[in-house]
Amino acid sequence: MILPSILQSAHQWASEALTPGGTAIDATTGNGHDTLFLARQVGPDGQVFGFDIQEQAIQKTHRRLLAENAHRQVTLFQKSHDQMHEVLPEKLLGKVQVVMFNLGYLPHGDKTIITRPDTTVRAMQQALQFLTSGGLLIAALYTGHPGGQEEAGHVIEWASGLSPRSFQVMWQQMINRDRSPSLLMIEKRS
Ligand code: SAM
Repeated sequence: MILPSILQSAHQWASEALTPGGTAIDATTGNGHDTLFLARQVGPDGQVFGFDIQEQAIQKTHRRLLAENAHRQVTLFQKSHDQMHEVLPEKLLGKVQVVMFNLGYLPHGDKTIITRPDTTVRAMQQALQFLTSGGLLIAALYTGHPGGQEEAGHVIEWASGLSPRSFQVMWQQMINRDRSPSLLMIEKRS
């Protein structure tokens, strides 16, 4: 297939914005696949900050990073992503190249623990302040689980209202499949 899946596409776009030595945030570390990807992209001289509310997710991510020797450039927080303003250093404001959100529940985990519209949008608002010019907020939105449709709706409504002078906003989806996930990308303009 030439057309990428939503997650492949997320990584492709992220790699456009990331450079060795750069900085990224994984707002939902889950099983650590995205955190590892970000850690590899920024390399040993870069920095990745990861958030997840579940201990299981933080441990799984840490183990994955250790196994791949990519743990040194990553700091993990067992905290909600809408606390990023409280825990990340102020000097990172305007410096982050990519913030990734992969919404929904932890695959192979408790499917009742899900990301929620209010905290997600609050975290995304904060994430935009951390982005550098040309930086990307990338969010995979899922609608197949209870609450997913509502969350995706909230996020798209919020993102649609962002000023075009400050942000470019793109929404990507396979439109011939039921409940297919979609990808939201917000680029901060210079
Ligand atoms: N990026 C992950 C990966 O590569 O495996 C997948 C993430 S999974 C789809 C969604 C994750 O969001 C779950 O692990 C869940 O615990 C986490 N989550 C739910 N609410 C959250 C919140 N308020 N802040 C941070 N993470 C949250």
